[in-house]
Amino acid sequence: MAHRVTLIPGDGVGPEVSAATRRVLDATGVELEWDVLDAGEGVMAQHGTPMPEQVLESIRRNRVAIKGPITTPVGTGIRSVNVALRRELDLFALVRPCKWYPGVRSRYRDVDLVIVRENTEDLYAGIEFQEGTPEGLEVIEFLNRLQERTIRSDSGISIKPISRTGTERVVRFAFQYARQYGRRKVTSVHKANIMKFTDGLWLEVSREVAKEFPDIEFEDRIVDNMCMQLVQKPELYDVMVLPNLYGDILSDLCAGLVGGLGLAPGANIGQECAVFEATHGSAPKYAGLNKTNPMAMMFSGMLMLRHLGEPAAADRLEAALAAVIAEGRQVTYDMKADRDDPTAVGTDEVATAVIAKLQSQGAAA
Ligand code: NAD
Repeated sequence: MAHRVTLIPGDGVGPEVSAATRRVLDATGVELEWDVLDAGEGVMAQHGTPMPEQVLESIRRNRVAIKGPITTPVGTGIRSVNVALRRELDLFALVRPCKWYPGVRSRYRDVDLVIVRENTEDLYAGIEFQEGTPEGLEVIEFLNRLQERTIRSDSGISIKPISRTGTERVVRFAFQYARQYGRRKVTSVHKANIMKFTDGLWLEVSREVAKEFPDIEFEDRIVDNMCMQLVQKPELYDVMVLPNLYGDILSDLCAGLVGGLGLAPGANIGQECAVFEATHGSAPKYAGLNKTNPMAMMFSGMLMLRHLGEPAAADRLEAALAAVIAEGRQVTYDMKADRDDPTAVGTDEVATAVIAKLQSQGAAA
């Protein structure tokens, strides 16, 4: 039976990497019916919101979506569509595998890490008070009454909520993921020595949940130490589970370990729905140039195939991508030794090369 999937092409380089990814996913032989819907600043005039209700309805109906990046305009008051989508659909876990493939130029080899980032709480909860506003001043006065330290009246305030419920479900998800994909260890990352009631709670709950999974090793790391460890010996780590902000920062760090943003995929997972997307943004300066690397979104498509219960097709796609990477010819500028290498191909040509590999696998089988 065909899988019905919502496709949000996005903006900037989104439509190009989405079109390339769609071609490749169609070529895996898995029957996919695409429900294509736009979101972002481009639909504001027509719908009065960057996130039209029919986009959410489509995802709720299909339960699976794949999206290109969407620009968050700076200074217009429009909040991030990406953050809104995660919140509206309660996509509480953001999974970002960071795997090195032979042929990728990186200082590191044999890295195979998975970041599980809590996606709904922490400093990203969107509870903020602007400096100098009546609400901001009221919050400061209230907090100054409540505790001993004085917050300066010209401060901006961002609130960092971390709940037992939010932590429990994402840490449990990380362990279940580790078990499902044959991983050996989960590392919980925090700054509990300083933020005792938020990160401290995160650590306490992590330890409790770990007891439910005696077959998976558990350890914790303070986030600054984790950064150093990842740069020095990434091979020691496996699955890492992190609160939202640390997860965001370490995702880029880990993407850097395995070849950069052009190769880093992601999956936003909730109880009901899943939305797959690359880690990178809309790279506006490259929009319309057929230049950026579609592999991050293609690898996100591979994760989607696994989620849809199509592991064989996912393996075939991974092998085809790995073969194109290993050959190093039909790849975009970011994967060449010299970024101005004139032999670098465009977004669309990468899709053609990956499809050729898929077809030659079929012929060889
Ligand atoms: P970005 O990831 O768009 O681009 C930063 C740089 O990384 C680019 O200039 C380019 O040099 C490189 N790069 C990114 N993707 C690449 C690819 N596929 N191939 C080759 N090189 C690539 O980050 P940014 O400039 O900080 O953000 C641009 C916009 O995207 C912002 O509006 C931001 O809010 C948005 N954004 C959206 C998402 C999302 O949709 N999930 C994620 C991150 C950023």
